Parts: sequence; structure tokens; C-alpha cells
Amino acid sequence: MRPDRLNPLFAETESLEGVGPKLRKPLDKLGLTRVRDVLYHLPERFVTRHAVEDLDQAGEGEQIVIALTPVEHRASRNNRGPYRVLAQDAKGNVCALTYFGRSSYTAKKTLPIGEKRWIAGRLDRYGDMLQIVHPDHVAETSAGLTGKLVEPVYRLAEGLTQPKVAGLAAQALARAPEMPEWIDPGVFDTQGWPGWRDALVLAHRGEHAGARDRLAYDELLANALALLLVRADNRRRRGQPLQGDGRRRRKLDLPFPLTGAQKRSISEIEGDLAQEAPMLRLLQGDVGSGKTVVALEAMLVAVEAGAQAALLAPTEILARQHFETLRRMAKPTGVEIALLTGRDKGRARESILMGLLDGSIDIVVGTHAIFQDAVSYRNLGLVVIDEQHRFGVSQRLQLAQKGRRAPHTLAMTATPIPRTLTLAQYGEMDVSRLDEMPPGRQAIDTVVVSQERLPEVVDRLAKQLDAGAQAYWVCPMVRDNETDDIAAAEARYTALKARFGDDVVMVHGQLRPELKDAAMERFADGEAKLLVATTVIEVGVDVPNATLMVIEQAERFGLAQLHQLRGRVGRGDKKSVCLLLRGDALSETGKQRLALMRETQDGFRLAEEDLQLRGGGELLGTRQSGEEGFRVADLEQTQRMAQMAQDDARLLLERDGGLTGERGEAARLLLYLFERDWGVQLLRGG
Ligand code: ADP
Ligand code: MG
Repeated sequence: MRPDRLNPLFAETESLEGVGPKLRKPLDKLGLTRVRDVLYHLPERFVTRHAVEDLDQAGEGEQIVIALTPVEHRASRNNRGPYRVLAQDAKGNVCALTYFGRSSYTAKKTLPIGEKRWIAGRLDRYGDMLQIVHPDHVAETSAGLTGKLVEPVYRLAEGLTQPKVAGLAAQALARAPEMPEWIDPGVFDTQGWPGWRDALVLAHRGEHAGARDRLAYDELLANALALLLVRADNRRRRGQPLQGDGRRRRKLDLPFPLTGAQKRSISEIEGDLAQEAPMLRLLQGDVGSGKTVVALEAMLVAVEAGAQAALLAPTEILARQHFETLRRMAKPTGVEIALLTGRDKGRARESILMGLLDGSIDIVVGTHAIFQDAVSYRNLGLVVIDEQHRFGVSQRLQLAQKGRRAPHTLAMTATPIPRTLTLAQYGEMDVSRLDEMPPGRQAIDTVVVSQERLPEVVDRLAKQLDAGAQAYWVCPMVRDNETDDIAAAEARYTALKARFGDDVVMVHGQLRPELKDAAMERFADGEAKLLVATTVIEVGVDVPNATLMVIEQAERFGLAQLHQLRGRVGRGDKKSVCLLLRGDALSETGKQRLALMRETQDGFRLAEEDLQLRGGGELLGTRQSGEEGFRVADLEQTQRMAQMAQDDARLLLERDGGLTGERGEAARLLLYLFERDWGVQLLRGG
């Protein structure tokens, strides 16, 4: 149960004054459903204005506060254009106050001719006239504006205005209770941070650099505590020690020797599996580093020890592909492997469920369908989760509930994130890294091409396809408006189909699964030559004959994502090429990022550098798992403070494992505040 003290913060946003049904939509869109969310909706930036006596003191583009006297109102002809109020400063210089659309009504009221007004806004030039478009404030006295020299700018959604959000933030702040301090006194003092409530007030005003850090640190601390609690809980649990005798693995007939990194990871996993405490291990390895074989070896250990193993994939396509790969590789070992997805119905499904229950199926591969309530295992010993970043911690916890005794968990991810971020995201897990690529990989040639040269790109593609190669064509996908993106992708598909005919197939996120799989299968079998896709091909797909990858509007993707996409080619022994098409309005950072893609194929390096280039402002995790991501701490802060938070959390739990002391109680509040309540639940259980 959430402590009472926090109730005002978890009340709905609609309980704030002035929030009715009309504001609900934009607020929801920003994720501001509860007072707490509003409280943590911190300004994106601040405008800093300076007060000037006359226009001569102000430069173009500057944010100013100035006294002006309206001398003329000028409506545009036929009312289509802007409404302008010409106004004079103390020296007689003229400036236009320009209004578009309906706001001209306000202008008429608030800017009567001959009466001095104080105006805040950005000074621009229009032709040879100075102007301020939509002044931020118009006041009758200077007093009203001197308090507005520094003002927050919040992220908005349509239907919200800055003053409205600022007003809601003020109300939320008024409801924020005092909280006991949960940060280690030593850390708190050295950093010179304000207390929780003050930090919020100051962060909304942009007044104390430490305020925002403190709030971010709170989130990192909550996260670290919760993950450590998972870890501690896990240590107390009974799993089954799984010790293989090698009889299945000996029969594995791999067409290649394992890399050193693969061998090392396998033996780390073997070591964990032999323990009674369930394994919690993350296998981190760049695209193409060979995680699947490692997973297979681990699952064979489980089978040798008389248990079952399950492999969870994020999509049907991947589940199917894993199933095929594993079945092929494991054939000589004689283990029984089944595929179970949400699409399996009726008799086929029944028979798989039976096989899992009576133990005749050793390994099951599937989507989350394999963890539905109806699915029971005779003895589930190991769960492998592929592309872990698609699943959040609470989902990981749910999986661990399956099986009479807690199964061992191996999570795999190809997202090459820097070490400190790994700590923040997977702090409860041990990590094995595949930091060595299988030998014989050809480097992928990466070329950045302007979108204008699309016709040449298509010609080049035609040559490749004629020569028997296969290719991917990726259209950008932005979360905000999936439908538009799909329309764009479909238009591209139609155009390419006009040229290449039946050789082209397409997959995207809204396609019916059967159609998606059918298209993927045609491509994987080599029947189709060109796969047009949105980012659904991002993870896992393995078609060695594909040697060309075209990515449209590459600047719209994150580096890690581009890297993953690019990893779809260069899987065979032939030379592969990746063409990054860029729009013409590319920022300096955008250019640097694409240049970096050309320069290196080291996913970990790309991840580190991407972080440097983006700097702060970007959040970790939210985008990927859609749950318990970071809302306050940005990447830079995470990078800088995750270790500190981890140490702080560890010390606290060492001294007060049940979180019952004074600081422990405060820490419980913190866990609830950041909705890591499952951390608290684990405390109770233990
Ligand atoms: P990922 O880590 O991206 O899941 P995969 O497991 O799909 O990578 O492996 C990528 C490709 O590399 C596959 O075709 C696989 O058969 C091959 N592979 C894996 N390990 C080795 C190895 N040690 N030597 C050569 N090829 C390997
Ligand atoms: Mg994989």
C-alpha cells in the first residue's frame, strides 16, 4: 500500500483547478495523468529576457522586455494576413507587434492606442521593420514583467499553452508534501543539493543547477534500490541447480568453431546454472556476434539436466526464425523443439501444451504466448529472453514467477549501451559480453547519400539484384504517427514494385501477422529479392544473401538503431553495402552522427559517441520498453550519477536490508514515488 503522504501526488491531474475534459487529451499525450507527473514535468529550457529602455539597445533575435506605446492598428486587407499594432519606444523608434489568426482580438483589447504597455517577446525583423510576433506578455506596469525575465518553457501538446502548464505546475508544487531525506547524508552534503521539495520548486524556476541533478539522482537511486532488491530476493529464492553431462552438446554439429567470447560466456552461464539461486544474467553482444548459439548451448545444459527451456522472442517473425535455426542446429542432438505463438490455435496448440506439460517437448520457442496462464511446464528450468530491451523489469519478474521453482533467466540484448547505462538498466543482472565478432566477417561499406540522388540509388539496387543479391529498403518510422509513416512506406513499396515487380515484398508494424510472415518467408527463402520495411526488421532477422541495405531519412534514426539495421547485411561472405539516405536539412550533429556510422562498426563505440553527441536531454529506456523508463534523469545525468546511486543504494541496503530505519522508511517513499513499488513488494516477501 502506498503511504498516505503520497496520496495528493497520485491524485488525477483533473483534480487540479482549471483542468476539465478539454485539457485531458493534451495532458494525456504528455503523460501527465497524475499530479506527480505534472510535478516532474520540468521545463525543457528557459527564456532569459533583458529589459531595455529603447529599441536601439536591443539586437535582432533577442528576448526583451520593453515599454512601447501603440500608435496605429493595422488589419490586413481581407483579414487573411496578420494583424499589426505599430508601437513606439521612448525615442520614437517604431516596432510592429504582429498577431496571426484569432489572437488579433486580444491585441485590440490589450493594446489601446496612446497607452504605454510593457511588452515581453523576441525582437525580429520583417522586411525593414522591427517586429515582435505574438508577444509572450503584455502588461500595464513594469512590475508585472520584472518577475518574468527568466521564464520556463515547457514541452507542450496541442491545446496547452505555456502559462497554462506553468499554472498547473504551480498548483502541483503547492500540493507537494515535505519529505524526509532518502539520499545518503554524505552524498547530500558534498553535492550541496537542495531537499526534495525545494529542488522541485527551484527546478521549475531554473534556479539552482543542483536541483535538477538531485531530482535525477532520486530517480536513479529509486531504480538502483529496486533492482538491488530484485537481486537480493533472487538470491534467497530456490531454483534448481542444472548440471549438464555434455551428452547432447557433444552431438551438436556446428559449422564453425566458437569464438573465445562465446566460450567464455557459455562457461559463465554454466557456472550460474549449476547454482541453486536462479541465474539472472544478461548476454550483451553486438548484432551478429553469435548470441543464438550461446543460448542454444545454455538450453542444452538445461535439457541434459532433465529440465525444459523456453526462448522468448519479441516478435512472431523472430520466434519463427529462431525456431528454424535452433531446429537445424540441434537436429543431431535429438532434443524436441516446438514453436508456440499467439497464432497457434486448436489442435496444434493443444498438442504443444500437452507436450510441455508431459515433458516430451524439451525446448519451446515463442512470443509471450509461452507465458500465458494456460501454459504449464513439466519442469521449466531456463528462460532465455531475446532482445531484452523490449521487455521491462516487471515483465522479467513475471517470467520468474513461472515454474514451481524459479527458473534461471538468460536475457540477451544487441543494444550496445555503455557500461554505466547497463548498470542503470540491468543493475540486478550479471553481465556477459560477446565482445568479439566471429572471424571472416566482411566490413560493411557505409555511404551517406543525399535523398536527391534516389534515382541513382535505385539503379544501383537494380544492378545488385540482377547479380543475384538480395536487399533491404528501410523506410523511417516515427512513433508519433505510425499511420503516416506506413503510408510513406507503402508509397515507396508501390514505386519499387513498379520497377522490380514480384521480386519485392513489404513488412510493417500494422500488417497482419500471417502476411508479414509470408513476406518474410519469401525473402528468407530467396524467392523475393527486395524487402521493403519499416523498422520491424530491426532485430534478429538473418538472411546471409542480403548484401545491400538502403535506409531512407537516416538522420531520423538513433545511431544504435542504424547500427542494428545495418547489421542485417554483412552476414555472409560477400561484400555488403549500406546506403544512408539523408535529407538536405541536416544539422551539424546530424552530419557528425552519420559520419560516425561511416567510420566505425563497433556498436559499443557508436553507443558511447552517440551519447556524447546528443549530450543531455535524452531519456533512457522509456522509448523501448514503454514502462518504468526514466522520466527525469537524462542520459548524461545517468552516465554521470548511476554509479554513485548504485553505491548509495548498496550501502543503504547493507545497513538496513528491510528498509525499516528512518532513512529506510524514506527510501520506501522514494520507491513509491518513482513507481518501483515492486521493489517494496519484494521486501515484504522476504
Ligand atoms: P546475434 O548475436 O545477432 O543474435 P546470431 O546468433 O544470429 O547473432 O549469429 C549471426 C551469424 O553468425 C549466424 O549466421 C551464425 O550462424 C553465425 N555465427 C555465430 N557464431 C559463429 C562463429 N563462432 N563463427 C562463425 N559464424 C558464427
Ligand atoms: Mg539474435
